[in-house]
Amino acid sequence: TQSTRPQRLLGAVQKKATRGNPRSVIQTIDQFCRQREWAMNVGDEKGCILDSVVTETNPTTVLELGTYCGYSTVRIASLLPPQARLITLEFNPDFARIARQVITWAGVQDKVELVEGASGDLIPKMKAQFGVNTFDLVFLDHWKDRYLPDTKLMEECGLLKKGSILLADNVICPGTPDYLEYVRNSPRYQSQYFKSHLEYTKVEDGLEKSVFLG
Ligand code: SAM
Ligand code: MG
Repeated sequence: TQSTRPQRLLGAVQKKATRGNPRSVIQTIDQFCRQREWAMNVGDEKGCILDSVVTETNPTTVLELGTYCGYSTVRIASLLPPQARLITLEFNPDFARIARQVITWAGVQDKVELVEGASGDLIPKMKAQFGVNTFDLVFLDHWKDRYLPDTKLMEECGLLKKGSILLADNVICPGTPDYLEYVRNSPRYQSQYFKSHLEYTKVEDGLEKSVFLG
């Protein structure tokens, strides 16, 4: 039987990355994607912007929409202060299974709760079933037409507080025009674009950082 790209990516991690070393796992995945097969991780270039936002936010509770193989999960989790927690949502069970192994290989599993399911179903359950009050930081990187409805859902569910940060990937490529329109024009957000490139390419893409003003 043929292997899938996520399985080959995991294979590279198991072969080359040092167990318990998140930077080694990240570096191995970036190398695999640059030299072997492109994959939809946030990648090294935009990953540096993600790192800075995580570090300056110093969040206690983080939500990630779209885990895939766990690349950005490992990046975020490795920068969290002690006691902080990252919930990451993934609706594809094959990807979730790979991601759990990548997260464990990196040694950040104690900080991460990977929940399998669709964001639209899980966001309304965050308070009652997952004990969340509000999120300090949300990384949006799932299907692009879900950024806007899920943001409105998080607002309705009371998951954002004054100062909560939304960080959205791929706002140019593939693009999230309705979401950008919303966060840039709503008086409830203060929004800023970080220009970069689509993972592992020279195509323009970037991250949008939006502060929820309450
Ligand atoms: N954040 C990852 C990283 O940078 O390493 C990449 C995530 S990938 C671009 C998007 C993932 O979101 C896919 O694995 C897809 O299955 C998942 N996804 C898409 N829509 C979703 C939804 N509504 N709920 C949960 N997962 C979703
Ligand atoms: Mg992305």
